[in-house]
Amino acid sequence: MLSEAVKQEFYNALISKSSEYEGVFYVGVKTTGVFCRPTCSARKPKYENCEFFQTAEQALIASFRPCLRCRPLSHPNHVSELVRTLVEAIEKNPEKRWKTRDFEKISVDASTARRQFKKRFGMTFVQYARARRMGIAMKQIREGKAVIETQLDTGYESSSGFRDAFSKIMGTAPTKFGKHQIVLKSSWLDTPLGPMLAIADEKALYLLEFVERRGLEKEIERLRTKEKAIIIPGCTDPIVSVESELKAYFAGKLKIFKTPLHLIGSPFQKCVWNELTKIPYGQTKSYADQAAAIGKPSAYRAVANANGANQIAIIIPCHRIINTNGNLGGYGGGITRKQWLLNHEKQTM
Ligand SMILES: [Zn+2]
Repeated sequence: MLSEAVKQEFYNALISKSSEYEGVFYVGVKTTGVFCRPTCSARKPKYENCEFFQTAEQALIASFRPCLRCRPLSHPNHVSELVRTLVEAIEKNPEKRWKTRDFEKISVDASTARRQFKKRFGMTFVQYARARRMGIAMKQIREGKAVIETQLDTGYESSSGFRDAFSKIMGTAPTKFGKHQIVLKSSWLDTPLGPMLAIADEKALYLLEFVERRGLEKEIERLRTKEKAIIIPGCTDPIVSVESELKAYFAGKLKIFKTPLHLIGSPFQKCVWNELTKIPYGQTKSYADQAAAIGKPSAYRAVANANGANQIAIIIPCHRIINTNGNLGGYGGGITRKQWLLNHEKQTM
C-alpha cells in the first residue's frame, strides 16, 4: 500500500541509517529473508531487493525473520529482560502455539508478558508468535510450486522443516495423505493492496484473503476441518484465473469476476453472500438494506456476522457494505483497504 515515492523515501533513510525513521518502517531483504530496522549496520540491500513494512507484524507475516544484528523486535535502548526472554523463546521454536501454561514453564506471568509486549511492539506476545508462525507457513506458499514439488518427489522425510512449520497451519503432513482426503492448493498473490492468499482445488476457489487478515489462521483451520482437506503450496486453474482477474480489477478494467467459487457456510450465510454479489461495482449498501433485501429486515446483526465470515474477499464484495450513517463499518482486511477499494471502484466506474 506504500507509494513508490514513500518507498524511495524509506530507501534513502535506510541508506543514510537515519534514526528519525526508527519505528516508522522496517525493511525486508528478499535475498536473505530477514527484516531490519532502518539503522541496521549490516550491508545495505539493493532497492529492488527491499520490501518495506510499517509494522514488524507485517514483516513477520510476509515471512521475514528478525535480523540478528539490529534485532528489530527489541527496542534499541531498553528492552526488559522479560521481553527479551520471550522473543528468544519464540525464535527457538517459532512453530509453537503459545498457551498460558507455557508462560509458567519459563517462569513468566502471562498478563505481565501481554502488557509489556504490547507496550513495546504494539502487539501482544500471542499476536507476535502467530505472525511469526503464519510467516513460516506463508514462506512455503510464497516460494511457490517448484520447491514443493521437488519435496514431494524426494519425500517429506528429508525435509522435516517443511513438515513441522507448514503442517501446523495447513494440515497433516503429506506423508500421511488419506486416500479420500481432499488436497487443496494455495498460492501467494501480490496485489497493490498487499499480498493475498488464494486456496483452490482444480475446479473452484475456496478462499481469497489478505495475508494480514485478522483471524486468517483460524479461517484456514475451519476450511481444513470442514472439507477434511490438506493444503499444499501450488497452483490450479481457478488460481490462475483469479490472479488475472484481480490484475484487471486493480487496473479498473474488470467489474464482474467469473472465477468459479466453492462457498463453505450455512444456508443463511450463503444467502447473505449471494446477496452481496448483487451489489454493483462502485456502489454501496447498508447492513439494514442488505437484511431487507434477503427478507429479514431485523436480522442486520446476523447479516453483519455473515459478511464478516466471508472467505472470498473482493470477489464477494463485503467491502461494499457500510453503516447506515455512511461510516465505513468494519472490514476483516482493515479499514484502510476497505476505503481504498471503495475509492478505486468509484473512480473507475
Ligand atoms: Zn538488521
